[in-house]
Amino acid sequence: MNHLEKNPVRADFPQLTQRIRGKNLVYLDSAATALKPWPVIEKIGHFYTYGAANIHRGAHFLADQATSEYEATREKVRSLINANSSEEIIFTSGTTESINLIAATWGEKNLNEGDEIIVSELEHHANLVPWQMLAERKKIVIKVAKVSEQGVFDLIGFEKLLTDKTRLVAITHCSNTLGNYLPIAEITRLSHANGTLVAVDGAQAISTIPVDVTKINCDFYSFSAHKLFGPYGVGILYGKKGILESMPPYQGGGSMISQVSFEKTTFNDLPFKFEAGTPNISGVIAFGAAIDYFQKLGFDKIHQIEKDLMNYAMPLLREISDLKILGDIEEKAPLVSMTFSNLHHSDVAQILDQDSIAVRAGHHCTMPLLEKFKIKGTIRASFSIYNNKSDIDALITGLNKAKEMLS
Ligand code: PMP
Repeated sequence: MNHLEKNPVRADFPQLTQRIRGKNLVYLDSAATALKPWPVIEKIGHFYTYGAANIHRGAHFLADQATSEYEATREKVRSLINANSSEEIIFTSGTTESINLIAATWGEKNLNEGDEIIVSELEHHANLVPWQMLAERKKIVIKVAKVSEQGVFDLIGFEKLLTDKTRLVAITHCSNTLGNYLPIAEITRLSHANGTLVAVDGAQAISTIPVDVTKINCDFYSFSAHKLFGPYGVGILYGKKGILESMPPYQGGGSMISQVSFEKTTFNDLPFKFEAGTPNISGVIAFGAAIDYFQKLGFDKIHQIEKDLMNYAMPLLREISDLKILGDIEEKAPLVSMTFSNLHHSDVAQILDQDSIAVRAGHHCTMPLLEKFKIKGTIRASFSIYNNKSDIDALITGLNKAKEMLS
């Protein structure tokens, strides 16, 4: 665990060098958004300083350069998640837009009154509300797959929910509130055996476990660049080629067309059919730098650091009296949701913030899950490759201090 005493990765993240209110920043909110390493920051700066140009159809050097870097990121994403073709990688503005795109195109075309969608109790609002909006418009039924008190997915109960009316399973790969992973390949196998498609929300999983969409065999997989050390305003929608081809376009405009006349418009091939207008060019290009950074570090190393952080933090957290840990299971993402039985989560977070310890407090966009647990919010600390033992020590001290001050 030596690397946690003196974590060399920290030097790549300039945000960690600053002091807030005279104290070193202790950043424990990576599940909300990851910090950005120098290569990502430099790439964005370089594009705006020297490389700004619009992509595709360009007739000059900088437009060609921007286009090839933009398309190179598409190939990097393809390789990262082991998709069969880069045509299956659609750039969006984030996980939220990716899921809304599925609902607005595949959902609008294929779902009819009485059809059923299954979600789980763990869903982020981004993977629930778009389906609810569609359900209201089309009179579709939403069924909810259950989890245990520890957040463990009930696979047997899930299988029982599948009927001849189930058209889609929209499900998270990893809970952003509890950190537990779902058996997504098994869920997909059972769903496909029922003739049901599977759309996975990968926002929380993508940075913590290797994702292989070919192995999982899901039909859609969505995630955001900003949780993978990349910029804001960039997301990915992976979809199987045949399914994407069968879907109507999402937004109309430039780039997504093949021929336009006043009488009729025909649409471009994949992936451009789903990418209308000028996209976040600098963001996508810088996301390429984030993927390079991430892959250079390697999943084994990333996993080891995160595992060591959890192995160090969890026993110390369990020792704090009156602190309840939600979903305290062995195999989970590097995040922990906690409540003090008699203290408000926001008050605790405020005291931590006084000492420049950044955590998240609230419902984490999973209100239905917290309702199940009969709580209004939790204090969530999440760890990433740049954290070290002293960050965790600061958290433990801060939680004890909050308990003392507020009790
Ligand atoms: N799903 C999950 C599981 C998430 O954790 C998040 C982000 N908190 C989202 C969806 C939405 O991602 P974004 O806000 O980047 O679109």
